[in-house]
Amino acid sequence: MKQLLLTSFFVATTLNCAKISAQQDSFADAIHHFANSRLILGNGEVIEQGSLLIRNGIIMESGQSASISIPESATTHDLSGKTIIPALVNTHAHLGWEAYGNWGSQFFTEENLSDHLYRHAYYGVGTIISTGSDKEDVANRVKLEQLKGNIGGARYHLSPGMGSPGGGPNPRFTDDPDYWGVNPVADPEQALRTVRELARRGYGIAKIWVDARDERRGAQVKLAPEIYRAVLDTAQNYDMRIIAHATTLADHKSLVSMGNRRFIHMPYDIAVDDEYLEMLRENNVYIVPTLGMITKGEPYYIPAFQDSFFYDQVPPSVLDSLNDNYNAPSVSRSAATEQRSAMLASNLLKLKDHIILGTDAGAVGDFFGYADHVELALFVRMGMAPMDAIVAATSRAAEAFGLDDVGSLESGKAADFVILDANPLDDIRNTRQISDVYLRGQRVDREGLSTRWTQED
Ligand SMILES: [Zn+2]
Repeated sequence: MKQLLLTSFFVATTLNCAKISAQQDSFADAIHHFANSRLILGNGEVIEQGSLLIRNGIIMESGQSASISIPESATTHDLSGKTIIPALVNTHAHLGWEAYGNWGSQFFTEENLSDHLYRHAYYGVGTIISTGSDKEDVANRVKLEQLKGNIGGARYHLSPGMGSPGGGPNPRFTDDPDYWGVNPVADPEQALRTVRELARRGYGIAKIWVDARDERRGAQVKLAPEIYRAVLDTAQNYDMRIIAHATTLADHKSLVSMGNRRFIHMPYDIAVDDEYLEMLRENNVYIVPTLGMITKGEPYYIPAFQDSFFYDQVPPSVLDSLNDNYNAPSVSRSAATEQRSAMLASNLLKLKDHIILGTDAGAVGDFFGYADHVELALFVRMGMAPMDAIVAATSRAAEAFGLDDVGSLESGKAADFVILDANPLDDIRNTRQISDVYLRGQRVDREGLSTRWTQED
């Protein structure tokens, strides 16, 4: 029954999109002037009284309203009192498995994947990198349909995974009997061949897992330095960007010394030291700390089902099941727990110039799009300025993966932006005050999506 409904949903979505594109072509061709808004450009700059001129999905110009010449043919949208930020760029999530009330590989369908792209778009996420758990044939069909304009939502990037045989993502994935696994790299030779093959198939991003948990899975072993060196060296020849899952300071240092420049997770085991910070600075390293994953036991943690920003977008049955399965963190926290929390906050702050946005949503109970705003608030809670958090979630995240067309409101970039009713520089939680989302220069139909999501099957 679920399958049938999803299929009909997909057909409906595709048809709707065709209709919408036809209508919106005239919108796209025309010049639109978003006037009198605060512009937070994403690169650290802010313009208090700014204008954006867009056409054909591209930002033609951005700057102070007074200094931009507006073509007579432009349609003006007065945004007095509003703030525009670039659409967010999320570099770490796992699309396709989440079914809101259910979870597993059987949900990795074109319909569900497409839904996840729209969920991100609803919340103002314009670009999403799904990291290492996608079923490639299904994923590539969706990506192709999106490039053709038949599916909207966040721009979908895939990063195939490589790991020790039987390794890869957490056991929730690997224990699934129908899981398709990762690309195994058992030795340097296989690593070289695998990277070449992924490059031949057109991938510009790939993930490796370097984690002791592989050693705990029966006979599997942690990915050895000579293997990841082969991955990193070969990837460089093909301009392929590797992101490494690694959670200890020793692994981070070893990976940077072998040429790795992107990390999923920051060191969680120990306070970072000056040697490491120096390595990061010298090599321009990017880190996705995925704080949402490690702060669930904190006293300030609010589960999604208690937060209207999430629960307004799912049917009541999903909330009931989340509520039923919720284990509240214990109120009394040990001295060791407090110490670890302080250590993580201190690490984050030292790494702040390297931090980029990623949520791990779709893997361990964090929800698409919603989790991005939780993560932004955690950046600030741990000491980053709101502007730093926005840069981490926009231009720096795009830069880390060479996604040159997104991540800022500068001229020539894609017209992917979020109009907010309040200023996130005053309070980062104002990123939740979404008035409108535009992707590819077109308004996302948030009301329509919301209506669809909140209806019970
Ligand atoms: Zn992950």
